[in-house]
Amino acid sequence: MEWEKIFASRASRMKASEIRELLKLLEQPDIISFAGGIPDAALFPAEEFSKAYAEVLTGPDAVPALQYSVSEGYKPLREWLVGEMGKLGIPCAPDNIFIVSGSQQGLDYIGKVLLSPKDTALVTWPTYMGALGAFNAYEPNYDKLDPMTNREPSTYAEKAAQGGGRVKFAYCVPEFSNPSGETIPRAGRENILNLAEALDIAVVEDAAYQQLRYSGETVKPILALDIERNGGDIDKTRTLYCGSFSKTLAPGLRLGYIVAAQDVIRKLVLVKQASDLHSSTVNQVVMGKVAHKIFDAQVEKIRKTYSHRRDRMLEAMTKYMPVGVEWTKPEGGMFVWVTLPKGFDGASLLAKAVRDHRIAFVPGKAFHADGTGENTIRLSFSCASDDAIETGISRLGTLIKSEMAG
Ligand code: PMP
Repeated sequence: MEWEKIFASRASRMKASEIRELLKLLEQPDIISFAGGIPDAALFPAEEFSKAYAEVLTGPDAVPALQYSVSEGYKPLREWLVGEMGKLGIPCAPDNIFIVSGSQQGLDYIGKVLLSPKDTALVTWPTYMGALGAFNAYEPNYDKLDPMTNREPSTYAEKAAQGGGRVKFAYCVPEFSNPSGETIPRAGRENILNLAEALDIAVVEDAAYQQLRYSGETVKPILALDIERNGGDIDKTRTLYCGSFSKTLAPGLRLGYIVAAQDVIRKLVLVKQASDLHSSTVNQVVMGKVAHKIFDAQVEKIRKTYSHRRDRMLEAMTKYMPVGVEWTKPEGGMFVWVTLPKGFDGASLLAKAVRDHRIAFVPGKAFHADGTGENTIRLSFSCASDDAIETGISRLGTLIKSEMAG
């Protein structure tokens, strides 16, 4: 059977990332890896989860937890989130909150309801690779979103029309972005909203790292600014805020949420009904219990650990990187984004790094919708010990210096 012959046209854009394939080979114990952008498993509140599962499954919640439930999500969890959103300057009701199976699923659903083939999604260069993967299935074109120096709105609309569609949304990760680690300042967030209003499009605010701030001033989420512009009424806004439990409590339960105007939430809920009916009920019940009990303390704990690792990595970068190499100074999150001198290729550097120096990172090209970014790489500090950071960054510095010399 030649499956290629019968695949839908959208399947042609579903490609295994070469990088992900390569990274699978790197799980060897002697490699110091700054590649995986995952939480440190040692920080998972495993005992709290274990207690909560036992409690739920042996108590009166057992039947509803094991039964089918509503597509919008488990009400007490949504009610708890209403409180958390309020703290971020996002007044909303449970009906503005939709529980999804990881914010990744939220991105897929947003693509599904907003993108027709040839429509344009505005994304930053670089952007979250997983968002490009989710949107690609809906066959869009991409144009470059640059929050601080956006072009005239009409130029985006004209370019989209030339491509055969219209601009539908601007997607960004405003806090401690994956991959760049950067935060979009308030002025940039206002610019994005101005552009979205001028083009009459949505804003997709990916807030996967929202709680992971280690230093610097808090900046209001785009949705909070949008609500302010609309007299405090979330139902008049254009921003879809995508949150996640993955970086704070645990990614394995696969729970995230979308917060937005009810009109768009209702449509997204219909997508879920046709897709997987609802996210795991038992996991939502357990997440609700655990979040209620330990969320703030857990966030405090992970901030302390990751902030220490961020500091160590930035110190090591200053110590070991040669002149000509630039990197971001993230105020939170898990990533440092490195720009190497022109002519460097992140992918071939990775091959040498693994072979000769036993270190790994992610080449930056896959985070660029236009295939540029060859001379960039992403380093993650979330799972690295002090020793690993010191030794690994020193080896990376040695490799880059030798490449520059040769
Ligand atoms: N958005 C960003 C920016 C991410 O880095 C990730 C996880 N790597 C996700 C969304 C998806 O997270 P999840 O589906 O686990 O909520």
